[in-house]
Amino acid sequence: MRSSIQNNNLTSFWKKQVNLLSWFKKPKIILEKKNNNYKDWFSDGKLNVFYECVEKNIAEGLGEKIAIYYINKNYEINKLSYNEIGQAVDNLSNFLVNKFKIRSNSRIIIHSSASFESAITMLACAKMGIFHSVIFQDLKKDAIKLRIKIFKPNLIISRDNDENIKQNFQEIINKNHTKLKFLILREKKTALKFNYLKSSQLLKCRLKKKEKFMKINSKRKFFTLFTSGSTGEPKGIIHSTGGYFLYSKFTCKNYFGMSKKSVVMTASDAGWINGHTYSLYGPLSFGSTTILVETPMLLLDTKFLEKILKELKVSILYLPVTLIRLLKSVSQTKKIKSNHLITIGSMGEPLAPNVGNWYANFFKLRKPVVNTYFQTETGGIVTAPKYNSNLEINPHGSVGKPFKIFGICLEKNSSEKKGEIIIKNSWPGCMIDVINGSKIWNKYWTKEGYFKLFDIGSYDKFNNLNIHGRNDDVINIRGHRIGSEEIESIILKINNISEVSAIAIKDKLENSKIIIFVVTKKKNKEKNEKIKKKIITKLISYFGSFAIPENIFIIKSLPKTRSGKILRRVLRVIASKPLKKPIGDLSTLLDKNSILEIKKVVNNEKK
Ligand code: AMP
Repeated sequence: MRSSIQNNNLTSFWKKQVNLLSWFKKPKIILEKKNNNYKDWFSDGKLNVFYECVEKNIAEGLGEKIAIYYINKNYEINKLSYNEIGQAVDNLSNFLVNKFKIRSNSRIIIHSSASFESAITMLACAKMGIFHSVIFQDLKKDAIKLRIKIFKPNLIISRDNDENIKQNFQEIINKNHTKLKFLILREKKTALKFNYLKSSQLLKCRLKKKEKFMKINSKRKFFTLFTSGSTGEPKGIIHSTGGYFLYSKFTCKNYFGMSKKSVVMTASDAGWINGHTYSLYGPLSFGSTTILVETPMLLLDTKFLEKILKELKVSILYLPVTLIRLLKSVSQTKKIKSNHLITIGSMGEPLAPNVGNWYANFFKLRKPVVNTYFQTETGGIVTAPKYNSNLEINPHGSVGKPFKIFGICLEKNSSEKKGEIIIKNSWPGCMIDVINGSKIWNKYWTKEGYFKLFDIGSYDKFNNLNIHGRNDDVINIRGHRIGSEEIESIILKINNISEVSAIAIKDKLENSKIIIFVVTKKKNKEKNEKIKKKIITKLISYFGSFAIPENIFIIKSLPKTRSGKILRRVLRVIASKPLKKPIGDLSTLLDKNSILEIKKVVNNEKK
């Protein structure tokens, strides 16, 4: 059963936003409801994301303008104009159609980090309307196999910047997947038996025939992304073409004030929703310049960071919170001033108020950090302090005042301040399906059909929303509910501590107990015992004695996903005694050695 929703506030709000895009066929239907909480946005509209991001800008005279700067892991800065991108996408589309018989119903996996190649490949898929999925380049055999099994691609395009390609793909090719084709984008001729294409060739060679771009139905599946793994098994989240794309432009405009003049540096991987929405589609849809950073860790070199900000005239800088915390711990008292920088943003994790303050001071800006709250499932930012908001009513740490049209609510007992965040009204960026099936899909919705975000939030006195972490990161101790984020932000106030993660483990007597994992600053000379004492004193003075942790472990690094999220579920398993549960899917873990070291520290303390 379908019904189109008309004439209410929701549709009239989004109807006004339709003109953000140029559409081949402007939609008349704004929102259509289907069974099972599926909703289609702009369902009779037709568009092409590649056209909106590249061809339209060329037609408007921006052909020679730099569209993408790309910083590789050797600190080299490469640049591409809109004309060059148009040419490279045409060439690649042509190659895919002729050599691999790729058609609009094919499926492609793109195995690449933030790079020129991932951008061109994503845009080629957008041009031809090919359902695709970008997966992290560091993923190894088993993780790739799992994603192939779920997504069932016809072709994998991998950017080869290391020699592990053989180890990753040869076995997959030899076994089971005879029909699956591989294309390696690389610079040197390959000794392996793979098809390969020189990436630089994409810019140089002459086109045989220009592939036509498709006029794509707004509700057609655009891409899928596997969630980062902070939530357990990878889920394939599917986004639509028109709704997702319009929402990315809407959020760029409203939260960052993005325009044609912007130069945007977003330190996120192409395998993350942020790497789609804010590194690529959002900025290019305005005809602005985007900077892709292959290895965001390069930005911890503050001299290099300063050089980039000044030379490339960055106006919007958007970093993961974990990177901001590291930057804080390495840069000491230094500050950076760039006259071009107008807006700074943060993503991925709660931004502790003192870290937010430090971040703004570091870049000499007296404005709120655009602390963006989003999920892979939401397509883009759900809420954030807006770029032009006022620090007095938007103190660092909150994610701002949500647009009323979302109907964001907290599900809670009336006596409690904190509750589970739900969104009552649909929005165009909302996922349209999950690949894993209806059982997973159904978990996202309340019985009234509202969207559950699985995060805990509360409102401050200015009606700004604060995020306290995922609902399974909430620690229920002696009847008190505290978010892991609240404990962490208190501990981060202690000098010499650069990173921290607070978790709860089950306890027979007390229901749950707090465990703290701490990373100290490189230059720290304080003894572990002294640091632990400071943590306990700080927690008691803030929460009271019920918050005394069962254990504090001082470790070298926290287990993080490639998108910079702390894998608290892994810490929970390691800290629980005895070690019964398997650790679970570790495919998105950045550094496997961190787990070995943590296990060692935990076991030594238990002895
Ligand atoms: P992912 O889908 O992997 O990007 O993870 C989404 C999750 O990251 C959310 O459900 C939150 O738990 C967390 N998150 C994202 N942005 C923020 C933020 N600004 N503050 C606190 N947590 C955040």
